[in-house]
Amino acid sequence: MTDSATPSRATAAVSDRAARLASIPSFQRVDAYITAANVRRKGQLAEVCDFTFGNPHQMPAERYVNTLRDALTPQHDQWFAYQTNGEAARQAAAESLEQLLGVPFRTEDIYLTTGGFAAIALALKTVADPGDEVIFSLPPWFLYEPLILEAGLVPVKVKVNTTTFDLDLGAIEAGITDRTRVVIVNSPNNPTGRIYPPELLRRLSELLEAASARIGRRIYLVSDESYNRIVFDGLRFHSPVEFYAHTLLAYSYGKTHLSPGQRVGYLALPPTMHHREEMRPAISGLQVAMGWVYPNALLQHALPELEKFTIDVGQLQRRRDRLVDALSGMGYHLHRPEGTFYLYATSPVGDDEAFTESLARRNVFVFPGVLFETPGFFRISLTANDDMIERSLPAFEAAMKESMNRTGA
Ligand code: PMP
Repeated sequence: MTDSATPSRATAAVSDRAARLASIPSFQRVDAYITAANVRRKGQLAEVCDFTFGNPHQMPAERYVNTLRDALTPQHDQWFAYQTNGEAARQAAAESLEQLLGVPFRTEDIYLTTGGFAAIALALKTVADPGDEVIFSLPPWFLYEPLILEAGLVPVKVKVNTTTFDLDLGAIEAGITDRTRVVIVNSPNNPTGRIYPPELLRRLSELLEAASARIGRRIYLVSDESYNRIVFDGLRFHSPVEFYAHTLLAYSYGKTHLSPGQRVGYLALPPTMHHREEMRPAISGLQVAMGWVYPNALLQHALPELEKFTIDVGQLQRRRDRLVDALSGMGYHLHRPEGTFYLYATSPVGDDEAFTESLARRNVFVFPGVLFETPGFFRISLTANDDMIERSLPAFEAAMKESMNRTGA
């Protein structure tokens, strides 16, 4: 095809791929929403109740800061040299993961990355080629789609059961084709707060085994378990790696430490994964080719000690309870999340953007369900501080009353 048939190609400064990424509707919506929220927040920071991102709104723990400070002191002349998959950090991660899941991960199967984003991208590129299909469930973490498209893959979206927030296995099965290569599972789930029960994961494993045999090609499971330490009520988290051998586990310390700007995480292969020897050089090669997606030297030095640190999950749980109880009392419909940073509530009016706008007018910022491709809901981040939570309650009540008056309820 010539440039005259596609005139934009002749003059375009950006690649087709970049233009396509920038035009993903869900991505555009997230971007526009963030920009608008930032503009409105400017100059009135003291009054704002920010329930948007899973960002910290209180000073970091002294222990966390001291660990980083200690790691800054060089112990030899190579302290700040190029770092790949540092042995001590890998070992600490493998041991901690074994303790959490009861699966004996090996040090050499941990690949250190710049957070969960890179771990997911690395997992996708390790097993899937351009044109392969990747299934994920709605409502999703809103950045799966750009990661999938950037890797040249094809997103296939199915819905969760919006009453229970459980995976809809029938919908996943119906979404499988000859080109399916990956199913992404996110538990504990952002935005619903649901932790998928072991029985569901076992049935998913059976489904994927049968479907792989049917299409004559292995379907891999990418388990995004960034929140596997953010679990409430003493519940035990179960990972898909306990049920399905062909699982690539993506993790981010950004949640456990509530420090998402620090960019450290990993991709882990369980000892049950076949072809790990074949995967090893492929993953290491990708880590370099994707732009040296290793955590920086300081974080790698600190990691064995940071592995022992978790934010105060009890405090998050108390905030969850305060909000769930108060909002339920006002007439909001919502589940009590089992983990993660989030509450996913039903919007009292069908138009969730109009509803979140009415909250924003009252200086309370939440994300509408459209950002998660499930209109009719809204997401609250529990990482807001106690003061924000208390100040927000009259606004939630007023917005509910306004909605009821408007709908004549
Ligand atoms: N997966 C999920 C479900 C998330 O919520 C996030 C962060 N919000 C990530 C992955 C990415 O984590 P990070 O920013 O630490 O890379």
